[in-house]
Amino acid sequence: MNITLDFLVDTEAVGILSKITLLVMQKDFVIVERSTEKAENEAQQHLIISLTYNYDKLTDEILDNLIQELKAIDQVHDVTKNNLKNKDSLLTISNSIMKKYPDIMGSIKEYTKKLDEDGEENKAAVLYEVGEIVGKKIAVDQYRKLNVNDSIAKGLKKIVLPVISPFALAKIKDSELHVSMCPFCMGADATATVPQCDFLTGLISGLLSTKQNVEVEEVKCRAQKMPACVFLISKKY
Ligand SMILES: [Zn+2]
Repeated sequence: MNITLDFLVDTEAVGILSKITLLVMQKDFVIVERSTEKAENEAQQHLIISLTYNYDKLTDEILDNLIQELKAIDQVHDVTKNNLKNKDSLLTISNSIMKKYPDIMGSIKEYTKKLDEDGEENKAAVLYEVGEIVGKKIAVDQYRKLNVNDSIAKGLKKIVLPVISPFALAKIKDSELHVSMCPFCMGADATATVPQCDFLTGLISGLLSTKQNVEVEEVKCRAQKMPACVFLISKKY
């Protein structure tokens, strides 16, 4: 279950997101989505964050305790539980893809086509974000107890490879994942100027980021006539 919280914060607040992220992680929550919205007062904005709890039973007491602590952060003026208006479209899409796992390719292709038809300008970012939400959900659901906090290669081997193996052929080279059979760019125009596998990049990031503070980038793509899609995972400091 996701909980969406609406933070009223100073627009210029420095490091506010990392303070919130750290606190929710300490309380065993994971951030699955976030966005900002304008507030009435120009010096402030709404930071809308969706969270999921790492354990099965989330009680009112745990949630109220989290909200009290979040309210105590400097530059946070208020925290309210948001009763999902239109904030859940990416979450809804991610949930429906997640439910089909491992047979997710059809839904992703369909969703990508819809984004093309809608003329979505941020298609790459949207697909990345959906992939990341799905990755976080899988990591929380299936790999909660696995400790791979100390090594990127271990995270790739124990989490990423098993999760993607039903639909992609991949191997690990140090901190890189090489995908030689990648369904995400299969059939794509082989003259792409930028890598095309944004959902997969987000998925890998989501899978690893509940364990480690990492950044994932697709540095080579088969859609650029490369022999494999190569994803570079680096530590974020
Ligand atoms: Zn690719």
